[in-house]
Amino acid sequence: MIKILLLLAIAFLVWGVLRGYQRSLRRPPVPRQREAEDMVKCAQCGVNLPRSEAIYSGGSFFCTPEHQRLGKK
Ligand SMILES: [Zn+2]
Repeated sequence: MIKILLLLAIAFLVWGVLRGYQRSLRRPPVPRQREAEDMVKCAQCGVNLPRSEAIYSGGSFFCTPEHQRLGKK
């Protein structure tokens, strides 16, 4: 009886792994970069850059610490 339970447990495990594998095949490994990322303008030089790369300071975005130091034009 225990052997049957063990077999069932193994079968269940294999089934779970296979399901996970199939799901990983369907899903691309690297989520493609969202084009929807907000672009912000450097308040000093006006260059556009992704919000995640910008430096936010005093209500404005800047592209580099240098421009942050210079401040708004
Ligand atoms: Zn700048």
